[in-house]
Amino acid sequence: MNDFSLHEANASNMNFTRKIPIGISQCAMGDPVRFNGGHKHSKVCTQLLSQCFEYVPLCPEVAIGMGVPRKPIHLLVDKASAPVDAVRVVGVEDAGVDVTAPLREYADSVVPELAGVRGYIFMQNSPSCGLRGVRRYLSNGHGIDSEGIGVFARRLQQRFPHLPMEEVGRLNNSELRENFLTRVFAYDAWFRYVEGEAEEKPVQEDQKPPSKISQVIQFYTAYKYLLLAHHQEKTRALGRFLADSKALPIDELAFEVRGRIMEILSLPASRKDRTNALMHSAGHLSEFLDKREKAELKDLIEEYRLGHKPLSAVLTLLRHYLPRSPHSFIHNQVLLAAEPAELGLCDFH
Ligand code: SF4
Repeated sequence: MNDFSLHEANASNMNFTRKIPIGISQCAMGDPVRFNGGHKHSKVCTQLLSQCFEYVPLCPEVAIGMGVPRKPIHLLVDKASAPVDAVRVVGVEDAGVDVTAPLREYADSVVPELAGVRGYIFMQNSPSCGLRGVRRYLSNGHGIDSEGIGVFARRLQQRFPHLPMEEVGRLNNSELRENFLTRVFAYDAWFRYVEGEAEEKPVQEDQKPPSKISQVIQFYTAYKYLLLAHHQEKTRALGRFLADSKALPIDELAFEVRGRIMEILSLPASRKDRTNALMHSAGHLSEFLDKREKAELKDLIEEYRLGHKPLSAVLTLLRHYLPRSPHSFIHNQVLLAAEPAELGLCDFH
């Protein structure tokens, strides 16, 4: 494994020289694959996020041979609040047309192709691709609730429980987009640095390759302040879990840690928690700053807390002082790496 470095972890995509593979509902790419022969082109996906994503577009309904145009389908349940998997995908006009099994089988068949993607963008409200809140119907055609998940999306959720997923429409919101990018960058970094998919650096003959447990700990350590910015209590609980669980089989432990990291990052980072994480970072640098510099940094963090300055202003100043510290802990903090707003992928806040 390569050393986990701040610059390589989150910012490997900074110059957009390396694109991250992402699955996407094909109609979002502008391809006319919808039931009515249309598409739902998302410029956010094809013009903005395509700077750092390389897409794997799939249309499950076309892939199972339904054709274009085709008769519309919807989710059928036998009662309100039925469990999410107790659905069938049937024709709106003819409930005898049941494509539940083919959609699930198709999802299972593309798993090898999707094992390499580091995120998935689904089209909302689709009985195949919708990720949340899909309308469900009774056999008499009446809508009963909006508790559904598209059958294809649901199957992938089960196969890849930690894979960052989001809906096309929600990516128009800058904060939700930033959260998705943060999760994708982290998930990608995990596979590159913990699962060893990054290009190996030459290892000296007398150097032993690091154990997987040390890679997991290194990853958690590098993400610690970013995680704190998302949820302090859960981050500390993860630290305790890591300290107490070294006897677990390593793959089991790594799976659990990855799941917890992805769960914490899916929570919105509040200004209050971010301020706290920035204060921690500043604390690591304070011994290398003079009185005026310390005061300036403290004031800037306070301005950020009050909403008068963007996060990037604080990060820029912290990075300016970073070279003064000889400590790898603070150099490796992903919190201090390029944030999506600085990459031009979201608005500053
Ligand atoms: S939502 Fe999914 S199934 Fe429907 S057209 Fe788009 S890609 Fe195809």
